[in-house]
Amino acid sequence: MYSEKLKELRVIDSFKFRFHRIMKNEIQRWARTIKRCNAFLKFDTRGVEIDNNLEHNNHAADEKRSLVRQKLSNSVKRKAVEQLCERPSKIIHSEITPDDLNILDSKDINLIRKNIHTARMSKYPILLKTLLEFYAMVPDVVDKLHTNGGEKWIIHIDNNKGVVCFSTIKNLNFFKKCDAVLMDGTFSSCPSLFNQLFVVHGVKNNIYVPLFFCLLMGKSVTDYCTALEFLKQRSPLLPTTFHIDF
Ligand SMILES: [Zn+2]
Repeated sequence: MYSEKLKELRVIDSFKFRFHRIMKNEIQRWARTIKRCNAFLKFDTRGVEIDNNLEHNNHAADEKRSLVRQKLSNSVKRKAVEQLCERPSKIIHSEITPDDLNILDSKDINLIRKNIHTARMSKYPILLKTLLEFYAMVPDVVDKLHTNGGEKWIIHIDNNKGVVCFSTIKNLNFFKKCDAVLMDGTFSSCPSLFNQLFVVHGVKNNIYVPLFFCLLMGKSVTDYCTALEFLKQRSPLLPTTFHIDF
């Protein structure tokens, strides 16, 4: 057998040995092709093996483990990019075999989790840094998105006031059937380019359904008016009772 560089290799129990050096009395020493292995073969001038060390205990388990980990990692990564929203632990559970479990430990699983993250990150759109990028890109992105029910999103952008509203036809029509409206904003869970995610819920049978979403730059009267004017335009038959906590 020959290496990629066309050097002669000897294979013993599927472990590869390469010529290392000539020793005293012209004895040839052959060593492993990987550094961390101490195994060797020695031949005299007639090519007869006169000594060897074929112990691989220090690394054979490691090599087996890294092979098993790589195989699992590859199948898990493939599944993770196909199913972007599935939990990593669930994907790992579905792919791991009882044999893998005997060989791998929590360090290997953490490494595989990291690989899932890296594989998925390469599939996500880049994070936008400025509002101008946002306004230029969002209509295009929204056009490709739809809800679980297969419905398109409606988006309204007022880039002078920095207000972005989104909802769906079904959501907007649902306001008609509601007993009341509840409005609330969250400042902590909001994309970094904005300061507030303002959500308008419909109240039906004491259940609060989030129907209309707005990204606002602040919490001024103008911000709320812009958002609500758009809501009124698209959904003229709003309930007459409103709950607000500010
Ligand atoms: Zn070895």
